[in-house]
Amino acid sequence: MKKLCFEMPVVSQCSVYSCAYNVNSGCHAKAITIGDRKNPNCDTFLSATDHCKETKLSAGVGACKVEACKYNKDFECRAEKISVGFAKKTTYCLTYKV
Ligand code: SF4
Ligand code: SF4
Repeated sequence: MKKLCFEMPVVSQCSVYSCAYNVNSGCHAKAITIGDRKNPNCDTFLSATDHCKETKLSAGVGACKVEACKYNKDFECRAEKISVGFAKKTTYCLTYKV
């Protein structure tokens, strides 16, 4: 497997406990994708009762499709870190700002 190494904003906290990647309020996917162009929902959310076993690293934001956010540049997130939770009855990037 080829290893990639680059800087990404970190997912510092996530309160979507029903997601497979969530363990103790942390997201442990390698990287997540935010947004569907209009809404800053978590596109990586996976509803499951079992959760990932690898929890050493916190996820990064690999891509974000919400151009309206002030932190978005060239379809990437430029915030230092983000937090994810629920808003508007869906998963939501709580760092989203216009
Ligand atoms: S940030 Fe997204 S993928 Fe990560 S635990 Fe939260 S809902 Fe799941
Ligand atoms: S802070 Fe803005 S640019 Fe970054 S992931 Fe959230 S919605 Fe996307």
